[in-house]
Amino acid sequence: DDAYDEECDYLFKAVLIGDSGVGKSNLLSRFAKDEFRLDSKPTIGVEFAYRNIKVRDKLIKAQIWDTAGQERFRAITSSYYRGAMGALLVYDITRRSSYENLRKWLLELRDFGGQDMVVILVGNKSDLDQSREVEKEEGKGFAEKEGFCFMETSALKNMNVEEVFLQMITKVYDITR
Ligand code: GDP
Ligand code: MG
Repeated sequence: DDAYDEECDYLFKAVLIGDSGVGKSNLLSRFAKDEFRLDSKPTIGVEFAYRNIKVRDKLIKAQIWDTAGQERFRAITSSYYRGAMGALLVYDITRRSSYENLRKWLLELRDFGGQDMVVILVGNKSDLDQSREVEKEEGKGFAEKEGFCFMETSALKNMNVEEVFLQMITKVYDITR
């Protein structure tokens, strides 16, 4: 709330990008509210969530934007990216096409994203290892080539979710100070 805002040292905007169905909204709800949804309803209404997080003794208010389902229609616009200092670029380790489409997302990032935006590549649904279509090494390799950090996560099992957001926010903090 507002009273809390005044005690914040920094406000950072970050965005979630990646194909529809990869788990962006669940990663965010897990991070912001510790909630997970089993149904696959696309995001309705909520466009962003806040969480206050402590990084190197500073209180950061992270404002994380989620696509309200526009990625289905390739209708994400520049205003979504405006002012964003970080991005989680998400694919689904059980859906090869979501990994192949990373190239498309990179083009968009180049068009709309800021010059020194912190990007973390996220392979989500690591709990579904038996249906894996993208090896961990491939994700790692892609990230290395692009100069991104990389992590596999599970929004369902709450694995690496806190870590991946914290890593992004810490990196943003470190380059902006
Ligand atoms: P979005 O379209 O990228 O926002 O994806 P959603 O968050 O709506 O998730 C799409 C579907 O994948 C939903 O049915 C979720 O329950 C499911 N899902 C999301 N994250 C995970 C995960 O880590 N593991 C598993 N098994 N399912 C997930
Ligand atoms: Mg969504």
